[in-house]
Amino acid sequence: MKFETAALHGAQVVEQDNLSRAVPIHRTSSYLFKSSEHAANLFSLKELGNIYTRIGNPTQNILEGRMAMLEGGAASLALASGTSAIFYSIINICQAGDEVVAANNLYGGTYSQFDSILPQLGIKVTFVDPADPENFKNAITDKTKALYCETIGNPGLTMTDIEAVGKIAQENNLPLIVDSTFTPPCMFRPLEHGANIVIHSLTKWIGGHGTSLGGIVTDGGTFDWTDPKFALFNEPDESYHGLRYAHDLGDMNPIAFALRMRLVPLRNLGACISPDNCWAFLQGMETLSLRMERHSENGLAVAKYLDAHDDVEWVNYPGLPGNANYDTASRYLKNGFGGMVAFGIKGGRESGIRFIESLKLFSHVANVGDAKSLAIHPASTTHSQLSADQLKESGISDSMIRLSIGIEHLDDIVEDLGQALGV
Ligand SMILES: *Cc1c(COP(=O)(O)O)cnc(C)c1O
Repeated sequence: MKFETAALHGAQVVEQDNLSRAVPIHRTSSYLFKSSEHAANLFSLKELGNIYTRIGNPTQNILEGRMAMLEGGAASLALASGTSAIFYSIINICQAGDEVVAANNLYGGTYSQFDSILPQLGIKVTFVDPADPENFKNAITDKTKALYCETIGNPGLTMTDIEAVGKIAQENNLPLIVDSTFTPPCMFRPLEHGANIVIHSLTKWIGGHGTSLGGIVTDGGTFDWTDPKFALFNEPDESYHGLRYAHDLGDMNPIAFALRMRLVPLRNLGACISPDNCWAFLQGMETLSLRMERHSENGLAVAKYLDAHDDVEWVNYPGLPGNANYDTASRYLKNGFGGMVAFGIKGGRESGIRFIESLKLFSHVANVGDAKSLAIHPASTTHSQLSADQLKESGISDSMIRLSIGIEHLDDIVEDLGQALGV
């Protein structure tokens, strides 16, 4: 199936007892066992099936199966939020004493998780400037267990050369984990360019309507976890009948990463997604490629408008010819450059705050990827926990405004920006 078709039909087998055309919401916590033997088989993984909604749910299964198809992966696991998807991806590989090399231009919440929570667990994260992929290589030590980056960093909108980082990961036998939230799979599929694991905050463009929280991790199924340095995959898991995830899963060995994440972090830490939110994300997926076309069309037009405006100091949009990321973005992105536009307003912090307060159509919220246009001033909000040095390192200035361009009529979007810039 092509992308647009899979987005509507992928992974759904119409339930023969009710013939429901739409994917049903299975709002149940638990599932009947057909017999004691059936129950025993499910628990020992001899048979796959539903046990309890913390571990999996039929509505969730369709969301996961569909996402794996859209991303070109082997298996996906949906979680309560993008944040939990990121956390579980790391602790599915790393334990105390291990290290991760990560880009320094990450989503604010991810940066804080890596900078302050992971060290509490004894996991050290070394941040590097992703503009030069060699920086990842130079930061790798014999304790490194993964490389981590975003496709388009937030809020600076710098694009990482995924193939170059993927090559370094491969040469060092390390998995590359990519947060691709800003580039849904109709625009970019990181697994085709050297990533091994792809994460999305479903909350953003995939959900697309600002209604639900969720995250999803897709396992490319290509990484070989049998190197003993990945202790969590090679040493017997006493909490799971002595299972060695890299060796004992038979047919399912290629999806050892996704399966272990379900059986260990999800099962025992519990950041499960609700069936209702799975349904909302399936609705979003159906129109994802259509919405992204309009987000991208409007995004480019807004970038050009701002670029020509006297009260604007600079514009950052990866699809703007002359932009520092234009070549990388053109090489990787399909069907447009997305809906995120960042710009610097003349007059710095004061003007930034005045601009935000003058917007009428744009909503001032800490979100991106809604069908509605959104705006924020990162230095005083999403990234306010960062120190002046960290802000600088993340490419954020006092005058930066981040826009998430929606799918309204372009004329109305431009009119609102124009009147707010004129205040
Ligand atoms: C929003 C976002 C997250 C976090 O996702 P939540 O669903 O809000 O937990 C992670 N990475 C990026 C790039 C995001 O935009």
